[in-house]
Amino acid sequence: MPIMLGAIADDFTGATDLANNLVRGGMRCVQLIGVPERPLAQLIEGSGDVDAVVVALKSRSCPVDEALRDALRALEWLCAEGARQCFFKYCSTFDSTERGNIGPVSEALLARLEGRVTVMVPAFPVNGRTVYQGHLFVGDRLLSESGMQDHPLTPMRDADLVRVLARQSEHPVGLLAWQTLARGAQAARSCLEKLAGQGVRQVVCDTLSEADLATLAEAVVDLPLVTGGSGLGQALPAHYRRRGWLGEVASPGALAPASGGALVLAGSCSRATLGQVDAFLARHPGFALDPMALAEGPAHREEALTFARHQLANGGPALIYASAGAERLRRVQQALGRERAGELVEQALGHLARVLVAEGVGRLVVAGGESAGAVVSALGLQALRIGEQIDPGVPWTQATVVGRETPLSLALKSGNFGREDFFLRAFETLPTTGGEGGRA
Ligand code: ADP
Repeated sequence: MPIMLGAIADDFTGATDLANNLVRGGMRCVQLIGVPERPLAQLIEGSGDVDAVVVALKSRSCPVDEALRDALRALEWLCAEGARQCFFKYCSTFDSTERGNIGPVSEALLARLEGRVTVMVPAFPVNGRTVYQGHLFVGDRLLSESGMQDHPLTPMRDADLVRVLARQSEHPVGLLAWQTLARGAQAARSCLEKLAGQGVRQVVCDTLSEADLATLAEAVVDLPLVTGGSGLGQALPAHYRRRGWLGEVASPGALAPASGGALVLAGSCSRATLGQVDAFLARHPGFALDPMALAEGPAHREEALTFARHQLANGGPALIYASAGAERLRRVQQALGRERAGELVEQALGHLARVLVAEGVGRLVVAGGESAGAVVSALGLQALRIGEQIDPGVPWTQATVVGRETPLSLALKSGNFGREDFFLRAFETLPTTGGEGGRA
């Protein structure tokens, strides 16, 4: 069956965020890791129908050529799977450099799809991201005063997205102002047509509210390419349904019942994760991974394995965490170097995941974007079917793992996401075959 929506996301957690919102909008969704090499049917092996695929790239701040190559290869694959509409997903804070990669990628995708014009809709009003007269706000601050001006990789020092995008793009950039959008979807469509007639290819769209997102979704449903944040993703499915392109699905996030031991691997030092580790430790023991000890050889890793095996044998859940407060982190980074310390932790988490999954762990929570990336590649995962949301932006997912009869259930949490009891509640919300669900 052809897919309805084919999305390309410029980073891993951004892809999950969009996929999660598509499920909430009523679509059955799969997230793929990297440019897919095989047809969808082979990647998901009969795990049911799919309405939307989100291909997760790592192209937010890589060289422009690389971003273009991967995005175009992903697009070819999505077109071959029959995608009726394509979606280029980037961050709601428009994270990009002076030269890209949002403008060049969106222009290249549009050209390949032979579209006349596309829209830029980063806004997500419920999360405080709005756009007015082309200026992006984070809460009540302009983007350029929101903290994003100091981002280490993609500093955003200009809140005027028309100007930002024009610097990255070959063709003129236009604006769909709120005053036009407020007159409805037809007025918005006419504005896009008019701008296209003037040679504009990319149109930044004002968005102040969820209602504006819904109007925009209605206005752009026929375009071959749309671009933006995950907010637009949640608004589109209703309009696919109205067109009869998408059926009603009772539970688009339904996953097979989970089975196997419950493990949490935390490699994030973000404030939210530190709180989640403490909340877990108040109820169960955990094992603290020490990068200094990891640097000395495999013995420390083995200790962590012994701890986890013991916890799992007693019904679990088991927590292994490298998460450390600012002071400890600084000491370790001074001693080992920031990169080496990070690498040691990521390698250890990958190894622990591989061994413990092979030994029967079937429900795995990973905290930290990079940490999740390390675990996913250590496990050799290519496709994640997206399930129900645990907390905003973090769904349960399921993946096929070579050597495991039943799918592995995974929750991959960006460091700062999730409420304080996330590590415990995640397992409670996941239906299991053996009724282990409530144990955490
Ligand atoms: P977040 O989503 O919070 O940014 P990430 O996993 O992306 O989390 O990044 C955290 C980084 O910090 C990873 O590279 C991880 O290996 C590293 N790290 C985790 N714990 C420690 C520690 N105790 N000392 C040094 N580095 C650490």
